[in-house]
Amino acid sequence: MSREPLQTRLRKLPKIDSLLRLPGIERLREAHGRERVADALRSRVDELRRQLSEGGGEPGSLEKWLEGLPASVESMLREEVETALVGVINATGVLVHTNLGRAPLSAAAISRLREVSAGFTTLEYDLASGRRGSRSVHAQRLVSRLFPGCAGHVVNNNAAAVLLAINTLAEGKEVVVSRGELVEIGGSFRIPDVMRKGQAILREVGTTNRTRIGDYEEAINERTALLLKVHTSNYRIVGFTMQATLPELADLGRRRGLPVVVDQGSGNLLDLSPCGVQDEPSVAEILAQGADLVTFSGDKLLGGPQCGVLVGKRDLVERCRKNPLSRALRVDKLTYAALEATLEAYVSDRAEAEVPILRMLRETPASVEERARRCAQRIQDLSAGSVRADLASGSSLVGGGAAPTMEIPTRLLAITVEGRSADEIETMLRLRRPPIIGRIQEDRLVLDLRTVPREQEEELAKAVASLGGGDLKR
Ligand SMILES: *Cc1c(COP(=O)(O)O)cnc(C)c1O
Repeated sequence: MSREPLQTRLRKLPKIDSLLRLPGIERLREAHGRERVADALRSRVDELRRQLSEGGGEPGSLEKWLEGLPASVESMLREEVETALVGVINATGVLVHTNLGRAPLSAAAISRLREVSAGFTTLEYDLASGRRGSRSVHAQRLVSRLFPGCAGHVVNNNAAAVLLAINTLAEGKEVVVSRGELVEIGGSFRIPDVMRKGQAILREVGTTNRTRIGDYEEAINERTALLLKVHTSNYRIVGFTMQATLPELADLGRRRGLPVVVDQGSGNLLDLSPCGVQDEPSVAEILAQGADLVTFSGDKLLGGPQCGVLVGKRDLVERCRKNPLSRALRVDKLTYAALEATLEAYVSDRAEAEVPILRMLRETPASVEERARRCAQRIQDLSAGSVRADLASGSSLVGGGAAPTMEIPTRLLAITVEGRSADEIETMLRLRRPPIIGRIQEDRLVLDLRTVPREQEEELAKAVASLGGGDLKR
């Protein structure tokens, strides 16, 4: 083995310009641009130089290195710009999973998105007059259909809706809130912070577990601007508790000439008690109980895109709309498109059949079980028995800060693979593409098909079967 002196070998390393002319590399230049390819080549050459000076590298290995260069550069270029936001299979059984992007959109919403995003739109154009229009007309007819006599306004998310309501109606004034409702939602939404940023003064009343209507009444003074009720959607105080009811609060507001604002949160528009979800009043119910303005998210139980909606008395909504903050919180055409298509399903009584989140909520345990059985059989067949998929009992969760204590009975697939821990299985499924997210229950990885649409079942079965390590049978 002839060992040339290190200096000679380093000097012989190819120049970037000559590497750029290699046929395999020229092809990459067309797809990725000269600068990016040159950068990638430089880092490959640096790496080789490091290896050589550390004493690695066989004679003749330079040819081999050159041979593998186009492929290694291509994979470098691909990884460099790989999108971080990818679709996942949610097998956690948590329906409104904030970390997994909350509600999946309906087919109708997706098709409207496609239509509206590919070309020009009437976002701010009035077809009747041929003049400039206002984006605030969108969703307006649907809102007045769903909530007769009310107006609506759409902003970026529900946190923005609450901020806008508080700033518009109570800037420099006091807002009365029960201490039992000073919640933190989603890690960073805290009423005291929103109050401060909205330039209003928080007036806490009552105690964590008990607030009477008299407590609100005593707190009212000449600086009071509104009464706020927050749906304590992600936790529940149980035991010796009491909260003034909304009708009581609405009555107090009317007597004292103060608007009552309710942060409803979930955007639930239906009566969900037949699905076993209690304590998740619909927006219409809250309006009927006397709220003047209600705020909620578009991407929780409503099942639409991320946004926040304010619905209520026309004059209050109009004041919010005219607040200069609205310009900073406004939504784009894609949000309006998906929201309108989703609301249309509600207006036409098609929501329960069309909106994915509602379909998941309403699926019976028997139906989930049937799908789980079929999937277990498929895993068994594909893996030739090297992966076990057993049925187990468990609960799905509504999640997303709605119906906190609400568990929906479900049937789970519990996966076991000889020689692999539950953690290993969880990691392998999470790191594949598309990722499959499950959870660990009693030392086993469990998958809940309630949140997995039928179209993804085969992908899931194949991925799980491949954990056995054997060749997949067809
Ligand atoms: C989810 C929620 C929020 C925050 O809504 P985003 O859309 O995440 O901004 C605020 N209030 C309540 C009651 C909620 O449930």
